[in-house]
Amino acid sequence: MSKSGIVIALLLLLSGNHMKAQFNTVSFPCNRYKVAVENPAKTTNEKEATPEGVTSRILKSVPDKSSLPKTDKNKKEQVTRYLSVCYPLSHIKINSPYGYRKDPFTGKRKFHNGIDLYARSAKVFAMMKGKVLRVGQDKVSGKYVTLQHGNFTVSYCHLSQIFVSQGQAVLPGNVVGITGNTGRSTGEHLHMTIRHNGEYINPRIFLDYISSVKSGTYANRNI
Ligand SMILES: [Zn+2]
Repeated sequence: MSKSGIVIALLLLLSGNHMKAQFNTVSFPCNRYKVAVENPAKTTNEKEATPEGVTSRILKSVPDKSSLPKTDKNKKEQVTRYLSVCYPLSHIKINSPYGYRKDPFTGKRKFHNGIDLYARSAKVFAMMKGKVLRVGQDKVSGKYVTLQHGNFTVSYCHLSQIFVSQGQAVLPGNVVGITGNTGRSTGEHLHMTIRHNGEYINPRIFLDYISSVKSGTYANRNI
């Protein structure tokens, strides 16, 4: 599938029911609230630190209104969209990209089915709403978590700790585990793979998409 096809699939996924459900009956006077979802790893209270925690705090303090001026509606949509995604780590640095590379163990040319992100005992976040498809451990991936987001599955590998269990629902920003060096790994990092309908895709597409949502640059793009 082409990159634009995958992005369209992502958009369809994210424009689904959960985005509507969050703000069905509440207004969102953004002029009064600066909605900055800060680095969730900065606080110790995990629940409050997630974008969902931020959302629920704001919603509680806002009176209900039946209609909003158009500009407020647009802002509401922007905030909803902003909160619908989260980077997998607080700081993103790609150590090794997706695609063919020299295998760090054998030195031979081999397909790298994901990306390696720099990490040191870092919290790993769900990137969007979904559920835990699998939690496990094996010789290659070490401790891993696989999340399902619609037709996409995201695996986080070489973890040191796992905080979720199979079947559990996740929201963007929920902490699913801590990075580590378990399995076939030459040093601590987060190996992240993403499949779309079972086929590996470049996780950069997700990161770029999240980046565009967070910066608001994709908002008016017509695709
Ligand atoms: Zn890797």
